[in-house]
Amino acid sequence: MKASIYIETLGCQMNVADSERASTKLREAGYELVGSSESADVVIFNTCSVRARASQKVFNRIGEVRKARNGNEPTIGVMGCVAQLEGSALFDHSSSINLVVGTTATDRLPSLIESARESQRQIIDVGGRVDGELWKVSNVERHSPYVAFVPIIEGCNKFCSYCIVPFSRGREQSRVATEILDEVRSLREDGYKEVHLIGQNVNSYRPLTSAGLEGFSGTTPFSKLLRAVAATGMNRIKFTTSFPRDFHPDIVAAIEENKNLCNWVHLPAQSGSDRVLRAMRRGYKREDYLRRVDAIKSSRRRIALTSDIIIGFPGETSEEFEETISLVAQCQYDGLYIFKYSERPGTPASGLADNVSNREKSSRFSTLEIFQKNLQGVIYKSYIGREVNVLVEGESAKSNSDMTGHSTCHKVINFPGDMTMVGQEVSVTITEAKANSLYGVIKKN
Ligand code: SF4
Repeated sequence: MKASIYIETLGCQMNVADSERASTKLREAGYELVGSSESADVVIFNTCSVRARASQKVFNRIGEVRKARNGNEPTIGVMGCVAQLEGSALFDHSSSINLVVGTTATDRLPSLIESARESQRQIIDVGGRVDGELWKVSNVERHSPYVAFVPIIEGCNKFCSYCIVPFSRGREQSRVATEILDEVRSLREDGYKEVHLIGQNVNSYRPLTSAGLEGFSGTTPFSKLLRAVAATGMNRIKFTTSFPRDFHPDIVAAIEENKNLCNWVHLPAQSGSDRVLRAMRRGYKREDYLRRVDAIKSSRRRIALTSDIIIGFPGETSEEFEETISLVAQCQYDGLYIFKYSERPGTPASGLADNVSNREKSSRFSTLEIFQKNLQGVIYKSYIGREVNVLVEGESAKSNSDMTGHSTCHKVINFPGDMTMVGQEVSVTITEAKANSLYGVIKKN
């Protein structure tokens, strides 16, 4: 047996999927994957740079691991977005780091680890994917035996002025549909109940060939892909994140036609002010966004809508913030992720004065949070008496006589039950609405 490896994943679903892919490669190469850093020969941090001070967080974690190991130091590697962006500068910041592996070098991780351990030198690879590399993940490495992440597109071409992702993950590259469909079919055969088609912007999906999509109707390659994935018979299909400019109403049509395409869309608005949207370089105006929301809200199926908002973008006035509040009122989101703007070095927005004070950002944050909480309360209450389909994921964190899972509209649902139900789909009648979850009872047949 080769060395033992522990991978710690920080950040988004794409990072979770990258760790699953890296673990598959490592196990194939004979390495042992372990669940803690306590005695692993190699500790790899898979990093995220979307939040501020991402590298500081990694250095802190490295310090904690070193302290806990008390002199018996493992080989330490940093992979993912921070590795891609900081490159060899990471070695200067921390002499404990032996290995730096960029976002598209994951498949080379086994040989890179071997080189780092054999040569005792610092090893770096921030190169691109090699032609013919396939997205391959073994089920043993997946984060759940019932829900699987299936990346369909990597990278981003949008270059929003505040965002580092196009620099850390490179340009958009879509997987060929045949590969995606084979993966979903095999997941279904292996008992998976739900797939999440993931990517920075899933609806910008544009593969180099249409292989696998022949015979499926659709106005865009993504809506064709949705219909093709639905035809695999997978029980529940979710997708995230959608980019507003590329959100074609045909996506709503596909959801209406196929019950296994889940009734949930995450469509980040970021701001309700045209001036701020222009400064963010989002590529759409408020009215364009609202047209997409209209298509979603007027669907024959009730489709849940969630979003992201950044408050306190450079120069955001209180009137512009009010425009965001009015957009949130119009959209009636089922859920909202609110972020305070913070500068990412290297992005175009970092050249703008971050001139909304911290105090003002905090005040706008809580105003919006309370506003959304009230709207959400009404939406959640409207579920009382309704039946929702839930995939049971495990015991509720708050009570061991309750189970928890997500509905097709991606709400957290808790209900009395036991562990024999895990992995099953159940029908739950909602009896109570809480701030961020619903409570109910299993429907008796
Ligand atoms: S769409 Fe904009 S915010 Fe989203 S990943 Fe791309 S650049 Fe970043």
